[in-house]
Amino acid sequence: MGNLFLYNKYKPNSLSDFIGHSSILSIVNYFISVGNIPCNYIFYGPKGTGKTSYSRIFFKQVNCKELLHSRNNSNCICNNDMVPSIDFFEIDAASNRRLCDIDRLLSRRFFIPIKYKYRVFCIDEAHMLSKFSFNYLLKVIEDENSNFIIVFISTEFDKIPDTLRSRCLCFKFNKIKPREIYNRLIYISEKEGINICKKYLRIISTSYDGSLRDSLVALDTLRAFNTSILSTGTVLSILNLPPIGILRMLVSLILSGCIIKVRNLSRYIVNSNCCYFDILLEINNIITLLNIKYSKSNGAISYLLSKLRNVLIRELKYFNYYNYDAINFIYIVTKLVCYVSTFKRYGSFYIP
Ligand SMILES: [Zn+2]
Repeated sequence: MGNLFLYNKYKPNSLSDFIGHSSILSIVNYFISVGNIPCNYIFYGPKGTGKTSYSRIFFKQVNCKELLHSRNNSNCICNNDMVPSIDFFEIDAASNRRLCDIDRLLSRRFFIPIKYKYRVFCIDEAHMLSKFSFNYLLKVIEDENSNFIIVFISTEFDKIPDTLRSRCLCFKFNKIKPREIYNRLIYISEKEGINICKKYLRIISTSYDGSLRDSLVALDTLRAFNTSILSTGTVLSILNLPPIGILRMLVSLILSGCIIKVRNLSRYIVNSNCCYFDILLEINNIITLLNIKYSKSNGAISYLLSKLRNVLIRELKYFNYYNYDAINFIYIVTKLVCYVSTFKRYGSFYIP
């Protein structure tokens, strides 16, 4: 098993390994404590946030006989690493979207659970189901049967029909917080003996948009290198990341008013695999922070920064998230630096 990818090896199997989503956990714990567990769920949210992993832990939770789920309690099956079986069924709707596939899965609901109290049926990528499957499921979930639970898992909540949504308890799996990802990365690197500078773990934890899976893939990529002899720039380019340090450099070049240097650096950024809208927002953040920093000590630069921010925000309003491409990005960055160089030449009275 030595060649497993980290995201596979560290898929959380038990409650104690599961990070984030504390509000969902406490809602489920509440249902268990009052002994009234709803039967239909939709787990939705961005990729890599633990929806599928949690469905397996959820199976253990609802079937756990203990009232208090604690990490040290060996009777608590939530802490057990066992992979749920016998009464746990999952299907991937991306490849099993037809009515007959769903019917085959759910025909097992007519039998009482073999070992546990509840049978749990998970339908992953539920938004891919056919219209007939959805209609069939609508009838199934209206059935009064307290022995089985259906969990729909989806990254695209909007594509699930309203009629189904309104009959399910919907749990949104938010992006995992950088701090939680960071702690998990530290834990895994220690356990795996991966010698990696904490600075890079911090970069990873903030760079993958709250996806633990993508963060672990990044850690897997870096473990092949000796990061102690690499520069931050090289590490960022290995990970193909929108480089925060480089963005700071870009802002300082913009403030220096050197158009040629700004254009060269923007071209370099364009070659990395990144979202331009996010980058522009990050530049906006950097400018805002600088403005706060200089607001008392240097009135002139603070004035320039707030003007730059206005220019940037005006530009951001014209486009939407998906409209940003490399050309737009370079255009906006150039506009900012031109503003600074004009400002420096003519002073604060000239507003383009
Ligand atoms: Zn338990």
